[in-house]
Amino acid sequence: MNLDNLKSSVRNIPDFPIPGIQFKDVTTMFKDPEILKALSLELKKMYEGKGITKVVGIESRGFIMGPIMALEMNAGFIPIRKPGKLPADTYEETYEKEYGLDTIQIHKDALNEDDVVLIHDDLLATGGTMLAAYKLVKKMGVKKIYVNFLIELEDLKGMELFPKDIEVKSLIKFDK
Ligand code: AMP
Repeated sequence: MNLDNLKSSVRNIPDFPIPGIQFKDVTTMFKDPEILKALSLELKKMYEGKGITKVVGIESRGFIMGPIMALEMNAGFIPIRKPGKLPADTYEETYEKEYGLDTIQIHKDALNEDDVVLIHDDLLATGGTMLAAYKLVKKMGVKKIYVNFLIELEDLKGMELFPKDIEVKSLIKFDK
């Protein structure tokens, strides 16, 4: 299995949810057992030897490969969720979306200063969501942060938002 096979397993839906958006549907990757296994092997290879202790997944599509990666890396899994979903005390970060503001939350006791964290989401578009997640985790004083996406939409230049000293990687690249 090579990266081209993985790439061709992503279904493109034009004009969803609004005209002009090329929506990348990842459900077609996950439904094929061979692709799912290959995906988890590729992700494991990317982070082997980095000493990841926690994988942080962003609601909701970061909750699919996130726990699989955590299992492969002998790490724990931590959810970042939309407001009102996490039951215990939380930290939060508010950020600007195309239309208005959005907030994400994490449990205050989810991470500590010994953690090496991999933050994961399915797709990098403008980067606003992941940048907010990065800031949230950074404020918790962890040892090191890595950032991972399954898919990157290169034309949107989301990568440029992140500080140069952090490792941000994506597995599959599309123009848009
Ligand atoms: P952004 O904050 O702009 O990087 O948006 C990232 C989030 O929006 C991810 O969690 C994606 O699931 C979703 N998203 C944005 N654009 C697309 C797209 N073209 N196809 C699929 N999901 C998208």
